[in-house]
Amino acid sequence: MRTGALDLHCDVLSKLLTGRATAFSGSGSERLDVTYEKLTAADACLQTFAVYLPEETPSTFSSVLESVDLFYRHIVPRSDVAFIRTAAQLRTAVDAGRLCALLSLEGADGLQGDFAALRILYHLGVRALGFTWNYANWAADGVMEPRGAGLTRQGRKLVRACNELGMLIDVSHLSEKGFWEVADLTDTPVIASHSNAKSVCDHPRNLSDEQIRAIIAMDGLIGITFVPWFVSRNETVKVEDLFPHIDRVLSLGGETCLAFGSDFDGIDRHITGLADPEGMPELAEKLERRYGRGPAESFVRGNALRFLLKHLPK
Ligand SMILES: [Zn+2]
Repeated sequence: MRTGALDLHCDVLSKLLTGRATAFSGSGSERLDVTYEKLTAADACLQTFAVYLPEETPSTFSSVLESVDLFYRHIVPRSDVAFIRTAAQLRTAVDAGRLCALLSLEGADGLQGDFAALRILYHLGVRALGFTWNYANWAADGVMEPRGAGLTRQGRKLVRACNELGMLIDVSHLSEKGFWEVADLTDTPVIASHSNAKSVCDHPRNLSDEQIRAIIAMDGLIGITFVPWFVSRNETVKVEDLFPHIDRVLSLGGETCLAFGSDFDGIDRHITGLADPEGMPELAEKLERRYGRGPAESFVRGNALRFLLKHLPK
């Protein structure tokens, strides 16, 4: 069993898509936060790779497929990486001490309202879907869309389609109205893969106490994220600045729902000492000193592992 972290979100694939990186390992990976070598050095348990189409990339299904292809070319072929599509695969890979890789989609834009495209992505192994990035699309409004609408008629269908397929729903980036509609409609608990507590740092990408309570009530997952400006208003942000966010989730009863979603490779500034997976062991140590060994292990790995073993297809 690996002792390292389970990360619910990184943007390696978008750097590969835009050519800012040309490899996941060795030469060509210099500009990546998350590389094969760094995950290995940190003894990482599982890395989620999000397909995210940067604003300069056309929001088409072929761009989505191009990103999935990059995942298949750069990450899947590595002999000690296990591409996880089912709970059984996750159990086996974790027990064998392999590095697990999960594939997700951030923003349904590229699906262009086509539910066959959604099913095709499921067949290709995508297991979590964030309906939006920051703005509106055919399914819903994102948190930065000024009108603050919720789900469209098609977006409501998308909740049902995800539930039926076994596609987890990720509510990070979703407008607050959209969040409550998803919470109302979904049969499966949701994840917020990379969001912090709004009552600690007032940013639209963070979750209100009511949203945190709702995720806890459905036994979902909250991935505390390392985006400095979601953590603190300070010029330099330290690892310890994550603690008030963790404390907030704990005070609302979320001890078994806490996880991490780094957003590595999606950010150009980092928390001091937490710029890539090699910073995770130190974070884990600090968590252990503050919360004790059992809780620290649950936050870093155990909670998310339990959730995925329960909610990934058998
Ligand atoms: Zn994001």
